[in-house]
Amino acid sequence: MSHVFPRHTKSRLPTVASGKGVYLTDTDGKQYFDGSGGAAVSCLGHGDPDVTKAIKDQLDEIAFAHTSFMTSKPAEDLADALIELAPTGIERVYFVSGGSEAIEAAMKLARQYFWEKGETSRRHFIARKQSYHGNTLAALAAGGNAWRREPFSPLMIETHHISPCYEYRGRQVDETAEAYGLRVANELESQIEQLGAETVIAFLAEPVVGATAGAVPSVPGYFKQVREICDRNGILLILDEVMCGMGRTGTMFACEQDGIAPDIITIAKGLGAGYQPIGATLCSAEIYRTIENGSGFFQHGHTYVGHPTACAASLAVVQKLNREKLVERCAVMGDKLQDALQSAFGQHAFVGDIRGRGLFRGIEFVADRESKQPFDPKIGIAKKMKAIAFEAGLICYPMSGTIDGVRGDHILLAPPFIIEDAHIDEIVGKLSSTFDKVLPA
Ligand code: PMP
Repeated sequence: MSHVFPRHTKSRLPTVASGKGVYLTDTDGKQYFDGSGGAAVSCLGHGDPDVTKAIKDQLDEIAFAHTSFMTSKPAEDLADALIELAPTGIERVYFVSGGSEAIEAAMKLARQYFWEKGETSRRHFIARKQSYHGNTLAALAAGGNAWRREPFSPLMIETHHISPCYEYRGRQVDETAEAYGLRVANELESQIEQLGAETVIAFLAEPVVGATAGAVPSVPGYFKQVREICDRNGILLILDEVMCGMGRTGTMFACEQDGIAPDIITIAKGLGAGYQPIGATLCSAEIYRTIENGSGFFQHGHTYVGHPTACAASLAVVQKLNREKLVERCAVMGDKLQDALQSAFGQHAFVGDIRGRGLFRGIEFVADRESKQPFDPKIGIAKKMKAIAFEAGLICYPMSGTIDGVRGDHILLAPPFIIEDAHIDEIVGKLSSTFDKVLPA
């Protein structure tokens, strides 16, 4: 009997034995193409010798020292490297161990920023109905999935959810993409007005929505309008790039493609590329200076903040992305993947939408293309896709988000940036046989 507490108590999962490049192998010798990089984590693939060496070298020097007492060279170097790449105005990096921790730190940092300024009535966060920000309590409260929050509802902090920017489902037939973007962005202003701007801390959003909906980017102009609304109302903009950051969408930060810079940005997943658990919360000079000139102390902290071995691994990841121009490669291969998916499945009777940016692609399934009617949730299309693809040796990430009562089935593809043309053929081939088995004839 296993003593591990699994995610689903009734499931029996294979045991992973090893990984090389885009493949994982289990203890029975079966090979799997890691088509989603776990959950958009493994941007360099598995068994990368440079990252492995950096970890070993760091362990030979010092594995861990607590940041209450000392900083470390890898943490300092990594922060420098990230700030070099970060959007304009971002100046400081707070290291944590993963995505949820990065969001918790972001939300507390935003609240403390206003507290330092004496604006203590601010307590509301506004987020979107189609979003996932993590599983710790504040991150969970911010996320849009009501079913995830439900068992914990008495423990949730005050968060308000507005419509996502979800062109496939939200844009009306007679509406341009720009008009649609403005319409949904303006919901933010209405929500702020309703709450009273002086009570709102921040708006929190994923530039490209990941885990709830399978790689949904916003329409052009949406985030520019959001930025303006935040500025006009004196609230902060927090962008969650835990999944879509670190090159995944073809630029180091996804928000570069939206032409805006946030006040706080969170990253994780691709930051450590799976080699070490690490995340980070990056903030503007204004936020940092306010705390520096105020109490001088961010009232937060975890034992493993700035873990030297995790930072050394991540520094090797960032250096490799830069040295081998892998983010640019991600953009090129991402376009190829989109074209291949479009030509194989673009006319499929049960494929409603194929979307995303870079090597961050989502496929949404529908029972009827014309009406965009989703499948009956009881069929569990996304779950079946995951299971049948897995049998065929392809790992893809299933999702089924519910927005305003409409539930959609999606799968997410987020392969390592090192994929070759032949790997794209392999993904399409395995998906094709999976679709044949799962979708109606
Ligand atoms: N934010 C986003 C956008 C995510 O996709 C995730 C993880 N799927 C998280 C936060 C939480 O990250 P973690 O699972 O590392 O806590």
